[in-house]
Amino acid sequence: MKVTKHGAYTYKLTRLGLMNCFLVENDHDLYLVDANLPNSADAILKAAADIGKPITKILLTHAHADHVGSVDELVTKLPQVDLVTTQNMAAFMQGNFTLPAGDQGAVKASNFPRVNSIPTQLIKNGDKIGSLMVVDSPGHTRNHISWFDERDQTIYCGDSWQSAGGVAVMGDIRWLFPLPVYATWSKQVSLQSAAETLKLSPNRLCCGHGKVIENALPIMQAAYERAKAKIK
Ligand SMILES: [Zn+2]
Repeated sequence: MKVTKHGAYTYKLTRLGLMNCFLVENDHDLYLVDANLPNSADAILKAAADIGKPITKILLTHAHADHVGSVDELVTKLPQVDLVTTQNMAAFMQGNFTLPAGDQGAVKASNFPRVNSIPTQLIKNGDKIGSLMVVDSPGHTRNHISWFDERDQTIYCGDSWQSAGGVAVMGDIRWLFPLPVYATWSKQVSLQSAAETLKLSPNRLCCGHGKVIENALPIMQAAYERAKAKIK
């Protein structure tokens, strides 16, 4: 697993050159944003040990396999860790794909692996965990969220944006790395979420796939305009 540091608090942990999760550093501990593919726990724990602080919380963006793959291994190895997610995402992790009335779409259940660990903390839009604020960003999945660090305006956006193959709103396909678009629920909703994300004026963009983008706002605005022209 390749570890790179960005700014004062962000460590990007990458598997297979494309699958990211992030350690966010606080005064006394670390939060892990997403849990990467299965069999990543030892490498994630080594990265935390090298930094010299314990992982106290796992914060999830969405329940696809490359983001929750190592949750169960991590919870086994860190029995005190908080597993933080939304109620709807927790339901998907437990294999409950019941949709609210009026939602006509189908869920591709095979996109969502069963996670045995029970979330210890359920959060919703606007809640704060330390300096990280929950930002609803549905589109890639129905219950996708992002995490916004108010200390340095870093957005941990999961797969609501991507930077692999070029910065893009999820749904605006990048042919160098098209895979996440195929697993996306609604491009139109993704575009609406992107507009909301821009209102936060992010300075650093940390995506599930691709490199960390600095001075991100104008780059994201340009990507948003491109997506707006394409997604109808
Ligand atoms: Zn995804």
